[in-house]
Amino acid sequence: MRLFAGTPFDRPPHCDRCGKPEEECQCPPEPPPCVPPGKQTARVSVEKRKHGRLMTIVRGLAASDNDLPDLLKQLKNACGAGGTIDEDLIEIQGDQAERVRSTLSKIGYRVK
Ligand SMILES: [Zn+2]
Repeated sequence: MRLFAGTPFDRPPHCDRCGKPEEECQCPPEPPPCVPPGKQTARVSVEKRKHGRLMTIVRGLAASDNDLPDLLKQLKNACGAGGTIDEDLIEIQGDQAERVRSTLSKIGYRVK
């Protein structure tokens, strides 16, 4: 049970810009982050997880400087694989280092 249940404070979150509930908000997405991809270096590695599963890990792209959910979407599309975000890490299932590297450099990131 929430603290303010039943009071005027018990409302769904509202958009800061238009004041509508977030479900109805039609505001354009936030402007892109201010650190350009060309100033960032992504480190791509393949690691073995339990049960011998391989995961492709992207390090070095800070969540505060990048739209990681959007990046994850692009990587998943490029690889045809699932993936998750763990704070500043992006994880793609399988050994996808080649595709992840080429997708990141197409966007403009420097890749190691
Ligand atoms: Zn809005």
